[in-house]
Amino acid sequence: MNIQPRKGLSFARRMHLPRSIGLGIGFFTVAAALYPSHPPTWVWVLMLVHGYGWPHIAWLLAKTSREPYKAERRNLMYDSLAGGFWAGAMGLNPLPTVTALSMMAMNNIAAGGPRLLLMGSLAQIGGGLLAYWLFLPELFPAITQVQVYACLPMLVIYPLAIGLVCYRVALKLSKSKKALEKLSTTDSLTGLMNHGAWKDLLSVEFDNCRTLNRQNSVALIDIDHFKTINDTYGHIIGDNVLKQLSGALTASLRDTDMAGRYGGDEFCVILPDTTLAQATDILERLRRTVHEHTHTTFPDLKLSLSIGIAAYAPHLSDAGMWLHEADMALYDAKSTGRNRVTSAKPGSKTCKSLSAEFE
Ligand code: GH3
Ligand code: MG
Repeated sequence: MNIQPRKGLSFARRMHLPRSIGLGIGFFTVAAALYPSHPPTWVWVLMLVHGYGWPHIAWLLAKTSREPYKAERRNLMYDSLAGGFWAGAMGLNPLPTVTALSMMAMNNIAAGGPRLLLMGSLAQIGGGLLAYWLFLPELFPAITQVQVYACLPMLVIYPLAIGLVCYRVALKLSKSKKALEKLSTTDSLTGLMNHGAWKDLLSVEFDNCRTLNRQNSVALIDIDHFKTINDTYGHIIGDNVLKQLSGALTASLRDTDMAGRYGGDEFCVILPDTTLAQATDILERLRRTVHEHTHTTFPDLKLSLSIGIAAYAPHLSDAGMWLHEADMALYDAKSTGRNRVTSAKPGSKTCKSLSAEFE
């Protein structure tokens, strides 16, 4: 079953309103220009059908087409052909002709760029020649006061309709851009920041610390024996544990703290304006809460965390070195028995030598 939306359906939908408005008021522009030459009845009928029926027929044609985009571009060509036809029929009466054709040209360039503008112009010329051949009207007749007034609604209302459509498209684009940006920086399982986004923030915070001399701490949190949890309870429960932990993590932090999923079963937090001692308190509380928590479905499922913390200090040459100190602290927590919070020993030899790997 094909559940793909058909390309161009929303484009055709967008064109329906301006076409209805443009052709609805365009009827009066054309009628005022043709009236003095007393056209036959079939021309009036054609004008009425074009002004009030065609916008809905065009929408129906695009809506029911297998390729709405192509159908809508064809519709725009018919619009141009018809516009040229009416201009030819009125003997290129200057003001109504320029009004109708320039509005259509604006529509064409907005919808399909210079290519559609060019094709539309050719269609307008074709339509004009056809009408001239059919009616042989007086060319460039003198314009009457009524014809001037009949052009005004078109000149005022139609650009507003096009402007509204463009504004709606810009709003939609801006929403899509924001959604895409969020998607590219969010971890899909936990909803926390993903690795890349968090590391970008860490660099910014590092620069802030350096220039403003702020006291920030960074923490790396790793679930102990998470592989065993997956092996014992299955990956779905494993995923559930990761989600629950991200919830507990967010709940234990302030709005200004920045939590992310570093990868796998490892989480990361930046705690702005927080000393090493304060960060240790906050994360110790988290560790205890998680350890004391009893899983509703699997009471045997006990979780423990190993956490490494490093505070910003002037000896850190870059964000990578800062993160590495937290990583070393986490390593200490793991190697000294897990289920604990360990803080970095600033500037230790291991930190300095290993931090070169980040560069
Ligand atoms: P340690 O105590 O040393 O941290 O051991 P561990 O088992 O927690 O660590 P290890 O790195 O050996 O295993 C991490 C596991 O996390 C392995 C991997 O399959 C699992 N994992 C990584 N990402 C996901 C995920 O998105 N969902 C689930 N359910 N498991 C994941
Ligand atoms: Mg682990």
